[in-house]
Amino acid sequence: MIETDALIIGAGPVGLFQAFQLGLLEISSHMVDALPYVGGQCVELYADKPIYDIPGVPVCTGRELIESLQKQVAPFKPTLHLGQLVSSVERQSDGRLRVATSTGTTFLAKTLFIAAGVGAFQARMPNVEGLAAHTDKQVHLGLPEGAQWADRDVLVLGDSDTALQAAISLAEQTAPPKSVSLMHRRNVFVAEPDTIASFNALVAAGRIQFVAGQLTGMEEAAGRLTAALYLDAAGAQQALPVDELLVLLGLSPKLGPVAHWGLDMERRQIKVNTETYGTDQPGIFAVGDINTYPGKKKLILCGFHECVLAAFGASAIVFPDKRVLLQYTTTSTRLHALLGVD
Ligand code: FAD
Repeated sequence: MIETDALIIGAGPVGLFQAFQLGLLEISSHMVDALPYVGGQCVELYADKPIYDIPGVPVCTGRELIESLQKQVAPFKPTLHLGQLVSSVERQSDGRLRVATSTGTTFLAKTLFIAAGVGAFQARMPNVEGLAAHTDKQVHLGLPEGAQWADRDVLVLGDSDTALQAAISLAEQTAPPKSVSLMHRRNVFVAEPDTIASFNALVAAGRIQFVAGQLTGMEEAAGRLTAALYLDAAGAQQALPVDELLVLLGLSPKLGPVAHWGLDMERRQIKVNTETYGTDQPGIFAVGDINTYPGKKKLILCGFHECVLAAFGASAIVFPDKRVLLQYTTTSTRLHALLGVD
């Protein structure tokens, strides 16, 4: 059980800046994100596209903004817990919050900051029943490191660079699988041109089979997946032997557990007051795209402002006996010491 003054759910731009603002008020924090990297929508959805409305930054890409935010928060060393979905939040008898993640990490936090954006980024799954039971056994959400499948039929689902690369790297192994197939609705991919060229060359050489189709189900025998059922381009039902299924259909944000923590919500967003960005539950704040209030705009700049007031709101809980004053980073020697710029 990790005890902390502040726990931030979501390491998107707003979660990162929340950790910075808490640091200025001498509140240390832990951060959790379902993704294996920080950056939220900026990195997942538009890493290389330009942003033009960050104050004082005429232009930067999504990735560059996240790199700057990481650099800015570095002096406060927030502890990151990545690749974990926050699943439950429970109030303890002493008022603290017990927060648990999908990988079994638990926190006891005095304050909680929900910076969950439009939801946790999770692997998109095909609409086929029963796949979840086989996850990490015969169903994989990424190419497992060192996978040796020489005697297996492998099917990759997806048209992204990651999907095509996975098929290529399996086909190019010294001991490649018995068969490598990639299924997508049609022979048009969103992957990089070089990747598509390598993929097509391996298809032409018969080392990868391209299947134009849509997965409709899986066949099982003795608790093991044995074949993929799909509709082919002509709309006919077909079956393809499968021992290992790689689901590489990208990620999509899912609000998921946040909706079940008993917070006052409106249209899947958490209602907050605009004095501290506190929710209807003491010690729980919501900042960034996840919150709503009259006039709310889902912009990074607005999220940054919310972080400042939420940090001051939390300081009254973390330091109930301390009068916390606003200090300027330009002139405060105390803040210079915290930032390590003395
Ligand atoms: P997010 O960036 O959504 O980050 C939330 C994080 O929380 C995610 O990483 C998610 O995995 C994680 N999370 C959620 N729930 C859980 C959970 N239960 N457990 C663990 N982790 C969880 N805004 C601008 O101001 N200017 C722009 O030019 C601009 N351009 C945009 C372009 C595009 C294409 C898009 C899609 C958005 C754009 N935006 C822009 C909006 C901006 O990206 C969002 O306002 C911003 O990302 C919100 O930040 P956030 O930190 O609140 O949430």
